[in-house]
Amino acid sequence: MSRLRIGILGGGQLGRMMALAGYPLDLAFSFFDSNPDCPSAALGPRFGDADNSEASLDAFIASADVFTYEFENIPVSWVERIAAQKPVYPGVKSLAVSQNRINEKKLFSSLKIPSARFAEIRSESDLQQAAATLGLPLVIKTVTMGYDGKGQFLLKTEGQVSEAWAQLGAQAPLIAEEFIHFKRELSIIAVRGRDGKTVCYPLTENTHHRGILSHSIAPAQFVDSDTQLTAERYISAILHELDHVGAITLETFETRNGLFANETAPRVHNSGHWTIEGSRCSQFENHVRAVAGLPLGATTCDRPTAMINIIGQHPATEDILQLPDAHLHLYGKSEREGRKLGHITLTANNHHDLATGITQVADMLPNPMALFPGK
Ligand code: AMP
Repeated sequence: MSRLRIGILGGGQLGRMMALAGYPLDLAFSFFDSNPDCPSAALGPRFGDADNSEASLDAFIASADVFTYEFENIPVSWVERIAAQKPVYPGVKSLAVSQNRINEKKLFSSLKIPSARFAEIRSESDLQQAAATLGLPLVIKTVTMGYDGKGQFLLKTEGQVSEAWAQLGAQAPLIAEEFIHFKRELSIIAVRGRDGKTVCYPLTENTHHRGILSHSIAPAQFVDSDTQLTAERYISAILHELDHVGAITLETFETRNGLFANETAPRVHNSGHWTIEGSRCSQFENHVRAVAGLPLGATTCDRPTAMINIIGQHPATEDILQLPDAHLHLYGKSEREGRKLGHITLTANNHHDLATGITQVADMLPNPMALFPGK
């Protein structure tokens, strides 16, 4: 019997970790990425030329049996072209909604999932109007192509409207969102199989620095079962509405009035990297199981786990490997400011020991500012 081959649009670290999770199940992989040095390059045949021509996409489609993607900022037309010939999970609808913040917000509201009030912005006067009706501060974001906090402006006073428009107007349409006074950011990842069966991971607490995820802790502390169940209800409603197959992530703000949805990603997520060592079956394995039509694995987390991103500069490998509860994941990327180069997973018997471990790791990072901004 020939091995099932999964074609992944994108050859970054997420594609790499999907393949690393799929090989023990005897799955094979190919990648569509124009960069010959992409993190997945050594893990299967790579397709895609400098301008990602239709011919190169067709060669990629011919190379595999079933398809997925590891990044949502790709043309919907690519996924449509694949879907016309072979199965692709998640489907076009999931991609189209998550690429567009307005569509996402409309989805939240149709499913009665609380999220920030918002207005669509097409002109400077729309922005003035939004400031008057929604109040200040407002978070102004591009509707498409935003990630890691890129393309955002925090509008604090009416006097800044022209500045905000000068900075982002060329990328209109924009979205203006009411500023949510949140206690912390929590995300939940769920995976839905082809048969509709769904598994959810525990809520994870995420800390960002300059818009980039710095570290995650799972399960998030001080989460009561009602909050976990609410998050599961929200993400299950989204999965069902999109008829989604594969992993999906819902980022939320925890407020005094409960969880507010911020955004979704139709894929495995940086805030779920901890699942490789911290959960019975990782987000990557569960995603490839779903795409391959296999039964999903348990999402139980037996020990508190942290994931610390390595950003910009590598630590000394020998230092990290001295820590008995640490696991080092390097993505094979060269150093560059703000670039995610790898991550470290730490497990501990309790959250107190985990916090001690995080401090220890921070001391080994060349760039601990990213982990503890106050330091
Ligand atoms: P996003 O690209 O939507 O994930 O936004 C990047 C970061 O900006 C989030 O992680 C939050 O810290 C902050 N942020 C985004 N939207 C809001 C909002 N409506 N209210 C308060 N903070 C926000």
